[in-house]
Amino acid sequence: MSGRFDGRVAVVTGAANGLGRASATRLAGEGANVVVVDIDGDAAAAVARGLPTESIGVRADVSSETDVDAYVAAAVDRFGRIDLHHLNAGVFGTFTPIPDLTVEEFDRVMAVNVRGQFLGLRAAFRRYAVQQSTGAVVVTASIAGLTGSADLLAYQTSKHGVNGLVHGAAVYGGPLGIRVNAVAPGIVPTELFAAAATTTGGKNDMESRASTTPLRRAGTADEIAAVAAFLLSDDAAYVTGQIVSADGGATVVNTVRP
Ligand code: NAD
Repeated sequence: MSGRFDGRVAVVTGAANGLGRASATRLAGEGANVVVVDIDGDAAAAVARGLPTESIGVRADVSSETDVDAYVAAAVDRFGRIDLHHLNAGVFGTFTPIPDLTVEEFDRVMAVNVRGQFLGLRAAFRRYAVQQSTGAVVVTASIAGLTGSADLLAYQTSKHGVNGLVHGAAVYGGPLGIRVNAVAPGIVPTELFAAAATTTGGKNDMESRASTTPLRRAGTADEIAAVAAFLLSDDAAYVTGQIVSADGGATVVNTVRP
């Protein structure tokens, strides 16, 4: 690896599994000290122990203001600074027709995917202000934030909301030297992806849908981590406010005439 992140400190949320774990692994592989944040504290600690750089695991629920402040404090206490944030933690919604979608389910998804990303962004900006230095943020959005589905209203609304956070934060952060971007994955088999099947009685056809995208397959967590790492790196020094799809081309297909 090139060591693009040598001497940098990175926070990755939702990093005990899936895309976040791949991102933590990628950033540490390129030299970063990583603060592995997850609601599953034991799993976060285990991921941190497996990384090649000095890294720590911290238990935090990203939808809790207190927990977000606590993971920032833990990071600063251990490493003295934070240079990079990958705000990745998210939950999937159930596949539910709109008339049957409950307020509880809607609020559950929004609390993690929107409030959680807002709290992480705010914490990043507050931290960068203290350090009086540049920083970068990448959030994990989704192609569900760029498209519509008949039965995934809470999740897709939350991911559209994430895009709004990115756009506003990029405009605010640009003059301060803080870049904010999103990676929008398509279909990537992870725990979250598997959980989707349980909400449809096992009828999860996402994998077969992936085979109809231009690249004819699902993505891998490492492929998403590579895009997130690019956006966090100085290679993307002139990139901000962008929602970068890593979806095998899924979002460019004209479904009227594929
Ligand atoms: P995953 O379920 O494999 O991992 C998510 C991690 O986040 C888990 O370790 C979980 O414990 C943690 N987490 C959940 N709620 C949390 C909370 N409140 N606070 C802290 N940590 C919490 O899921 P994944 O597929 O790796 O998803 C990661 C992100 O990628 C999510 O934002 C998701 O919406 C997005 N995404 C995934 C896909 C896909 O196909 N897998 C596609 C598009 C977007």
